[in-house]
Amino acid sequence: MAVSIFDATQMESLRRARRLDPETIRRLRLHLLKRFVADEVALGAFPAADQIEIHSLQVTQRCDSAIDGATKLLLRTADGLPLETVILRPSTGRATVCVSSQVGCAAACEFCATGRMGIARSLSAAQILDQVLYAGQILATEDRRLRNVVFMGMGEPFHNEDAVFETIAQLTDPAWFGLSPGKILVSTVGIPEGMRRLAEQFPKVRQALSLHSVRTDVRERLIPLAKKFPLDELHRAITDVNRQTGAEVMIEYLLLAEINDSMTDAAELIVWLGGLDVHVNLIPYNTVEEAPELEASPPAKRQAFARRLKDAGIKTTMRYSLGNDIAAACGQLVRREARGRLPVQLIAEETQP
Ligand code: SF4
Repeated sequence: MAVSIFDATQMESLRRARRLDPETIRRLRLHLLKRFVADEVALGAFPAADQIEIHSLQVTQRCDSAIDGATKLLLRTADGLPLETVILRPSTGRATVCVSSQVGCAAACEFCATGRMGIARSLSAAQILDQVLYAGQILATEDRRLRNVVFMGMGEPFHNEDAVFETIAQLTDPAWFGLSPGKILVSTVGIPEGMRRLAEQFPKVRQALSLHSVRTDVRERLIPLAKKFPLDELHRAITDVNRQTGAEVMIEYLLLAEINDSMTDAAELIVWLGGLDVHVNLIPYNTVEEAPELEASPPAKRQAFARRLKDAGIKTTMRYSLGNDIAAACGQLVRREARGRLPVQLIAEETQP
């Protein structure tokens, strides 16, 4: 049976069985996980190439945006479950991969097509790492370097915490991917104990919280999981994460017309954020077929909301969405395959309002 390159124990067993020089394993990891060379190039000089499994996922479709450089990969697990990974190439040059941690998602957020799929299965660390590897290899063919890894794809990362933490450990290990922890962002809909554990184990990894409203009824409508974790608990969790990491928490706020975009909403948000070290990202909403009742806030309202927060001294950034055309072009195919797609609005790149 082939040995996964992400399985350190099996790789060591293979090394012993084939009496390989440890240097050959080190070189294989260097070429694949840091330089992101093509599989055949990395394996070319490896003495036991026939016994190595590089990819645990298969790419079944690639969609490239014609307008903004985003690429969506549709992948499949060995047992046929579909998932998505998105590569972003913002004008700043900081190429980013947005990975999925689960196939489907149990959080069931109203605005998210993935949430409508329900939970199918959590991915293993090797399956999450494989998404990073594919992205790195694609970018390497364009002479680009993968800079950031964000957990904003399908799934709630803290519902698959062990695998996500194992993934982060390998991503930041100098002997493996060797990424700086500050280049990794984990986005949650708000699981307080998960946020604290992440801050404790990986204090330099950045955290983002999808808040979307500080009114209990609105938040619970948008994020049913919020019923389990009330707003005051989340407030305490952010305070703790600020203290544990010494860093700000990103607050994701999706602007929805007539739901959470009024000046009263802004005022309540300002009060709620008092005393917290945060940076608010205001995100325009992209309609998903599954939730036609939700509409994006008009641009003027978004600008007014941002201005209100900034005037109150809150660090605020307006984002724009990347990959809108591929969401449309690939949406049909992806839904047919996966019955869902990434919440594209959550993978937007920063820009100034
Ligand atoms: S927004 Fe994130 S947490 Fe909510 S249902 Fe979608 S994938 Fe799950």
